[in-house]
Amino acid sequence: MIDYCYHTHTFRCGHADGTDEEYVQCALKAGMKTLGFSDHIFLPGIHEPFSRGDYGLLNDYVSSIRSLQAKYASQITIHLGFESEYFPAFDSYYRQLLNDKTIDYLILGHHFRFENNATTFYYGMSKTPAQIHEYADGVVRGMETGLFKYVAHPDLFMAGYRGGPLDPDIQAVTRQICEASKRLDIPLEINLGAMRFRGLFHDGYELRYLYPYEPFWVVAGEIGCKVIIGVDAHHPPELQGTEYLYAEELITKFHLNVIRHIDI
Ligand SMILES: [Zn+2]
Ligand SMILES: [Zn+2]
Repeated sequence: MIDYCYHTHTFRCGHADGTDEEYVQCALKAGMKTLGFSDHIFLPGIHEPFSRGDYGLLNDYVSSIRSLQAKYASQITIHLGFESEYFPAFDSYYRQLLNDKTIDYLILGHHFRFENNATTFYYGMSKTPAQIHEYADGVVRGMETGLFKYVAHPDLFMAGYRGGPLDPDIQAVTRQICEASKRLDIPLEINLGAMRFRGLFHDGYELRYLYPYEPFWVVAGEIGCKVIIGVDAHHPPELQGTEYLYAEELITKFHLNVIRHIDI
């Protein structure tokens, strides 16, 4: 079992379900000691119904999780955060959320390109080398801000991209992200989400998951990056799933420098 999860969504994002309290109850049933809520960040002025909750939901999210934090304090440590891209236009917003302690932490989930005040491209659909290099540049720029406790699904670019483990662009992007992780001491997340919506498949080059993408984690192991498991729960019972067993296999097989806790 894993006794922590820092990557948990809520119904507010428009593509998750259950009540906030059901996530806590499922975490307790799974034997967890730490549960971090990290819903897709609500952005002022941005309306994206199935990607993220509206900014107007912020107070409800904060008050709901804070009250669960108090109610269950003797049983489980609950943290309040967001999963967020780093969009420079919102730099002061991110900092304010953290500085005034509206939330406790951010994790970096670099899903989208942002331009003209809207998200315009999902990096999980990357098909070209230019798109995966742009993804990596965005991830590293986010890491360098110091705002984020870890990088969620750093290998998200492989959900769409094809090329096989010898592809030089896959190798370059992998190395760029892993070297930044090591240099900046920011953990990388083995994300269990994609395994639930698509099992092993053959991409024309190799049998694999959308992510975790094993050749990425070989390099993370060689470089000595810190690694953490994240459930990426969008339905409460997912906190009780068994996908972490595969993550533990990767940790053993690639000698990953696993951590089981982040300081918040
Ligand atoms: Zn989501
Ligand atoms: Zn994500």
